[in-house]
Amino acid sequence: MHTLIVGASLGGLRTAQALRGRGWTDKITLLGAEPWPPYDRTPLSKEVLLGKRSPEQLGLVPAPVLKELDLELLLGTSAAGLVPASRSILLRDGRRIGYDALVIATGSVPRSLPGTENLTGLRVLRTMEDALAIKARLVAGTSVAVIGGGFVGAEVAAAARETGAVVTVLSPGPAMMLRVLGPALGEHMTAVHRKHGVRVHTGASVVGVVGKDRVEALTLSDGSRIPADLAVVGIGAVPCTDWLEDSGLRLRDGVVCDERLRAVGAENIYAVGDVARWRNPRYGELVRVEHWTNAGEQARVVAANIAGEPAVHDAVPYVWSDQFGVRLQIAGRVGADDDVHYVLGGPGTEKFVALAGRGGRLNAVVARGEVREFLRYRGLLAGNGAWPADAVQR
Ligand SMILES: Cc1cc2nc3c(=O)[nH]c(=O)nc-3n(C[C@H](O)[C@H](O)[C@H](O)COP(=O)(O)OP(=O)(O)OC[C@H]3O[C@@H](n4cnc5c(N)ncnc54)[C@H](O)[C@@H]3O)c2cc1C
Repeated sequence: MHTLIVGASLGGLRTAQALRGRGWTDKITLLGAEPWPPYDRTPLSKEVLLGKRSPEQLGLVPAPVLKELDLELLLGTSAAGLVPASRSILLRDGRRIGYDALVIATGSVPRSLPGTENLTGLRVLRTMEDALAIKARLVAGTSVAVIGGGFVGAEVAAAARETGAVVTVLSPGPAMMLRVLGPALGEHMTAVHRKHGVRVHTGASVVGVVGKDRVEALTLSDGSRIPADLAVVGIGAVPCTDWLEDSGLRLRDGVVCDERLRAVGAENIYAVGDVARWRNPRYGELVRVEHWTNAGEQARVVAANIAGEPAVHDAVPYVWSDQFGVRLQIAGRVGADDDVHYVLGGPGTEKFVALAGRGGRLNAVVARGEVREFLRYRGLLAGNGAWPADAVQR
């Protein structure tokens, strides 16, 4: 039986590893558009920008371990189409590859600002090349504008500040990281950034980029002008499903999958990682998660299903983010109108542990720099999700 995995990064590699870990000896092909062996993206906005890690140190597995997996590795190779009826994919170079089981692990790509593609000094951050190009421009005193206040934007802002740049974050909402943290904790992290000298413009909408060949400044809807030697665009990502447009698969901001991560209405096709929108039984709804841990967990579920041992993916989402040398961790999902209760620290403190929930339900635990308490509440989330009796809900 031939398993073909499209996307040679975290989700794809972990699926291959999980299959081999189960003693699976049949042929596995791992195919990916990037020319590099699978590497970790998470340090790109952290250690790589800070010069603490080089591209050679990003491999997801050491070269000998990759070799031992005994994969057919097709790097620098892009899938251009899928024909489920003939169980085959089309490559951009015109070749066709057949499969018995297909795993879609093509991840997501950052949204960009239309019309700015050829402008020097304006970058998104997803790949090794992006990170190295941004790092090359990060010097003390340079003006950096970060468009968007989500995870990637917040991490770039923190790293740029740590290298001595003058940093402005243009956050469209009323606070940074609003979507994942909700208003109260988003405000908390906005305060942390300000305390470290980041200029945060909330409610900022960028309407123009000044500069002919290279970026010089950004203009905002209120008429103000933000000088920028470097502008980093962090306005979210979209799943890489363009190559699946004519496949007949159900696509809705990702590949729509059932609880077992099987593409809905298709046979022997699975999706893992950023590209998968699956029915998470824990929440009873379709969910897509762009977090590192999720890709690995889903890979194990897909491997079990391919191996004929039915498994569902219902894990509590988990994500971490390093900003100003301190780790922020989030387990669960903070609802927009959740109550927030601090177990340690308080609004604006460098370190804290906060619970978010509503109506006696614990929805999420968010911690910065406090691991033990975080783990305790994360454990509760995986259980029955009741609000802990020792934490008085406001
Ligand atoms: C800068 C940055 C920092 C991050 N930091 C954190 C963090 O601190 N914590 C955390 O939890 N998460 C973090 N993440 C998110 C995490 O890295 C992703 O969730 C993870 O990479 C998803 O893995 P994936 O395999 O699904 O997709 P990806 O890593 O996007 O890999 C998909 C691969 O498929 C390839 N591909 C796409 N289309 C095709 C095609 N048609 N044919 C062949 N190959 C194709 C792509 O080139 C890519 O190599 C970060 C992400 C970024 C970009």
